[in-house]
Amino acid sequence: MAVIINDTCINCGACIDECPVEAIVDEDDNPTDEEIYYVYADKCVECVGHHDEPACATACPTEGCITWDAIGESPEHRDDITDEQRSNKEPVVE
Ligand code: SF4
Ligand code: SF4
Repeated sequence: MAVIINDTCINCGACIDECPVEAIVDEDDNPTDEEIYYVYADKCVECVGHHDEPACATACPTEGCITWDAIGESPEHRDDITDEQRSNKEPVVE
């Protein structure tokens, strides 16, 4: 994983066009069949090289909806995020 969207997502769509690598899909394309937006961990680069912080989380109006998760298989991730922050699924934006 990389960043993850949790079940507090209200399907507002604010995040999807902010992603520089098209890692986000809406509820209709969510491979888990949950009725929420979804981040493909093998695509998400945590906005490294694009933005100072993950743009999806900056755009999201729902507090705590987008959190850190384990490092994904994409080529980039944020080195300044600790394993503890990832395992605790701390919000990307407080
Ligand atoms: S952190 Fe950046 S790259 Fe990852 S899903 Fe969010 S906007 Fe896309
Ligand atoms: S911006 Fe947040 S609440 Fe809106 S669709 Fe994306 S993750 Fe869900």
